[in-house]
Amino acid sequence: MKQFLLILLAVIVVLVGVILVRTALHQPASSEPVTPITVNLNDERAIRHLREAIAFRTVSHQREADFQHQEFKNFISWVKDSYPLVNEALELQLIGEYTLLYRWPGSNPELAPILLTGHYDVVPVLPGTETLWQQPPFAGSVVDGIIWGRGALDDKSAVVAQLEAVTHLLEQGWQPSRTVYFSFGHDEEIGGSNGAGAVTALLAAQDIQLEWSLDEGSFLFDGMMPGVEPLTATINVAEKGSVTLNIVAKAAGGHSSMPPRQTAVGILAQAISKLEANPVPGGLSGLSLQMFDTVSRYMAFPARIPFANRWLFEPLIDDQLSAVTFGNAMLRTTTAPTMLRASVKTNVLPIEAVATVNFRVHPRDSVEDVVKHVRAVVADKRVEVRVPEGSGRAASRVSDWNSRGFEVIGQSVREVYGDVVVTPGLMIAGSDTRHYGKVADNAFRFNPIIMTPEDLTGFHGTNEKISVDNYLQGVRSYVRIIDNGAG
Ligand SMILES: [Zn+2]
Repeated sequence: MKQFLLILLAVIVVLVGVILVRTALHQPASSEPVTPITVNLNDERAIRHLREAIAFRTVSHQREADFQHQEFKNFISWVKDSYPLVNEALELQLIGEYTLLYRWPGSNPELAPILLTGHYDVVPVLPGTETLWQQPPFAGSVVDGIIWGRGALDDKSAVVAQLEAVTHLLEQGWQPSRTVYFSFGHDEEIGGSNGAGAVTALLAAQDIQLEWSLDEGSFLFDGMMPGVEPLTATINVAEKGSVTLNIVAKAAGGHSSMPPRQTAVGILAQAISKLEANPVPGGLSGLSLQMFDTVSRYMAFPARIPFANRWLFEPLIDDQLSAVTFGNAMLRTTTAPTMLRASVKTNVLPIEAVATVNFRVHPRDSVEDVVKHVRAVVADKRVEVRVPEGSGRAASRVSDWNSRGFEVIGQSVREVYGDVVVTPGLMIAGSDTRHYGKVADNAFRFNPIIMTPEDLTGFHGTNEKISVDNYLQGVRSYVRIIDNGAG
């Protein structure tokens, strides 16, 4: 007995030793130190331009009839008037009437071009929320170093910052050796078919294959990753897909005074709770693994233990990440029942109860995988899983995070912000890159500005704003991205 206890003790000591050593070795990969580069901008002009851009009500409405053509025309005239150098040196083409496509010819036509992009349409301000704004949404006010208004984050700041960056480079006499395209979309918020879609079709028709593209996406996160001190530049290398399914439960109708043991509503409820209890399988692999592996190396010792010892703690990591909405969305295809419909009257039994469930498809799954999973989980003859026509969109390809474009973006951000963690990430929302990605070897989604958890509420919400400092750092980052990417 004593001997057994001794052996057990020895095993435990060895195990703990292995865990601690592995954790100690779980350190950031050593990267070349980057020399900070100072970019001296015309701050006053850059700020004024963003304020002016916000004032155009270039709102994307779901209904075509609500489209304010004049606001878009005015914005385009403003771009032409405000950026004389850009319009002199670059070729401009209007696509789908309102999307601006600029081409900056490089001196070496052998090099594959790159594309920088953003969109200048914005979502509407929800009626009734106007008074909740601390500053009016379309005034472009600056108060205490903060620029307020719709589009300050999503995504006029990126469009204006890119135009400022090009102006800055032209003033320095800088010329690209690689051709650079800039595409400023007018309909991203309603799918981007007429803007980004048409630009993509045009490039494809001209046989132009981009080395890489950069669109809106993730940010330099400040305080978003628990336990990670430095800023984390999450460069999104893929975008989730989406499929919406109708779950239809059927039953005999009749009067509610003499119901069967289960009505269509009860049958449907059971199916939905099965779906919530059995999410689409996921876990740490591929892109998700790369992301959490990179970031966890910057965590404090105790928090690093599970990530450094995945051979032992994988199920624990899975549980913990799945328990938070952000972590869960990174690990798997998510399940979200959103709409319900059944009987039309209180005393009438429904013959059909329908739930709409939206799934955001992880790059590891296909739309067909998700449908198959749902049918297997529901497994009830009384319930039908319908796939509405045209409802499925596959996740994007996963771009290579060891490619030149990724390196250029990461390096440029470090030149401006100093030592930040650079990691590939996964885009949960949609972007115009669902189109552009078709003509790019690698497609990235990243805005080089800092984002705190509080800032995020401004997206499509009230009080959208960006600090002057943050915005100017964004402009400087684009200067470095263009220089490093096409110089
Ligand atoms: Zn956007």
